[in-house]
Amino acid sequence: MLSRKRLVFYLFILIVLYQLVSNMLTHTASKQVIVVGSGLAGLSAAHSVLQNGQKVIMLEMMPKYGGNSAKASSGINGAPTRYQPVKDDLFYSDTLRSSGVIYQNSDSQLKKERETLMKTLVDNSQSAVYWLTDHFGIDLAAVTQLGGHSVPRTHRGTGKIPPGFAIVSELWKQLEEKYANLATLRTSCRVTKLITDSQGVVGVEFEDLDKKHSEKLFGPVIFAVGGFAGDTTGLVTKYRPDLAKFPSTNSERPQSIGILEAIGGKLMDMESIQVHPTGFVDPEDLFSRNKFLAAEMLRGEGGILLNSLGDRFANEMQRRDQLTEAVMKSCDEELNDEIRQWKVWLVLDEGSTKNIGSNIGFYQFKKLVAKKKISEWKQEIPNIKESVKRYAQMVQDEKDTDYGRISLGKWTLKPEEVTDDTELIAGRVTPVLHFTMGGVKINPEAQFLNIDDQPINGIWGAGEITSGVHSSNRLGGSSLLECVVFGRIAGDHAAKYLAQSHI
Ligand SMILES: Cc1cc2nc3c(=O)[nH]c(=O)nc-3n(C[C@H](O)[C@H](O)[C@H](O)COP(=O)(O)OP(=O)(O)OC[C@H]3O[C@@H](n4cnc5c(N)ncnc54)[C@H](O)[C@@H]3O)c2cc1C
Repeated sequence: MLSRKRLVFYLFILIVLYQLVSNMLTHTASKQVIVVGSGLAGLSAAHSVLQNGQKVIMLEMMPKYGGNSAKASSGINGAPTRYQPVKDDLFYSDTLRSSGVIYQNSDSQLKKERETLMKTLVDNSQSAVYWLTDHFGIDLAAVTQLGGHSVPRTHRGTGKIPPGFAIVSELWKQLEEKYANLATLRTSCRVTKLITDSQGVVGVEFEDLDKKHSEKLFGPVIFAVGGFAGDTTGLVTKYRPDLAKFPSTNSERPQSIGILEAIGGKLMDMESIQVHPTGFVDPEDLFSRNKFLAAEMLRGEGGILLNSLGDRFANEMQRRDQLTEAVMKSCDEELNDEIRQWKVWLVLDEGSTKNIGSNIGFYQFKKLVAKKKISEWKQEIPNIKESVKRYAQMVQDEKDTDYGRISLGKWTLKPEEVTDDTELIAGRVTPVLHFTMGGVKINPEAQFLNIDDQPINGIWGAGEITSGVHSSNRLGGSSLLECVVFGRIAGDHAAKYLAQSHI
């Protein structure tokens, strides 16, 4: 007869063995990297996993892929590239300058960490652009200059399709077509929890929103769930109550950052929320919370801003934070119970719209801009004629003596051509919440860090959910870039980890 003590001991061994074997079976049966989120960060990571010869499964909570990445309208930064008209070795210094007070006020250790992330971003920017153009065949041959950049370095296609959609749709298509055996793509699947063991993250729990049941999946995880600028009444109100009433360009959706917090992820720079100076105010839905972005390239191509009197008030090509401040200082505020916005006009001459006809056509179709004679605009923008004439003179003289704008875009209207009959395109714009610099801190290997600044095993991150790359202010075009750069790094590391790990 076995003693009671021995029986308990054997029973214990049996249970442990059962757990080990069942874990091994589940894990081996599904040896894959799990990518959460199908924006550009998730898609770049997924392709990088596949290029490393490993399987991937992508979980996206929405019925459609692409996230906010699909909305991106100005382009992706890269320097130097074969598409740039001028030599560009200033990308790092522009990025550093843009990172502002949060970077400057960091202690020396944190400053170094932020610098390493910025260097990683900039140093990999050329290969990120070439990866998209040469590996996937995406057209990024048109280059424009955005605010805060010293030279043109933001790449988009020469055709009609906006860059965000052009990039994500091609990456998704190639996952579906080229990698049908190796990539599983599941939409309407919302990850609710990360599964951990003593070694770190080993999988996810998720809800299939169509079938209405929960499932578990095992494998290393890449978490690429985007930012929270659309969560105006939730996280924005929590971290920046002063911005709670601002409209946003981002879709409102359930937030996932708590899933990382639950495993000890370190939140950083959460109060650092980018307000974009120009979101379109729809004349038929004046106070809508969700607004179309008036892409920065509209100013980059030559557009100017006027206040409600019709006077210019700032250098339109300053950094986003600076220009937003100028709008709030110099333009009339407009409030209701829900929304706070300002009265600003974006005005373009024919030259400024020449290269972006399809974008303008879309905005006209949406009634966000209109083409009218100066005599008609005068009713809404009284001083438009004088301001445009003065600006046209300064463009002719190649010197903005009023506000020191250096990049004048493709404005062609001459001062002597400005009459009551001159046709101009204009639309109302206002500052809008656009991007969250904060999130969970990462290191240059795209690992999420815990509150002791140690990497969390088994999970990597990329895109807007991460923090540390931009500090106070993100340069336009650098978000798509961080998705590609850190998405590729995350995919690379996760694939290698899978190849070697116990999972
Ligand atoms: C209108 C607009 C224009 C922009 N233009 C530019 C531009 O020209 N250049 C530039 O560099 N940047 C631009 N940006 C910013 C840039 O597009 C985004 O910051 C970037 O694309 C974010 O990519 P992401 O992959 O991190 O997140 P997203 O693209 O937002 O993707 C995250 C995905 O994760 C999914 N998800 C979230 N939680 C879960 C969960 N728990 N389970 C499963 N799925 C989940 C979401 O549904 C979403 O599809 C623009 C942003 C907007 C809104």
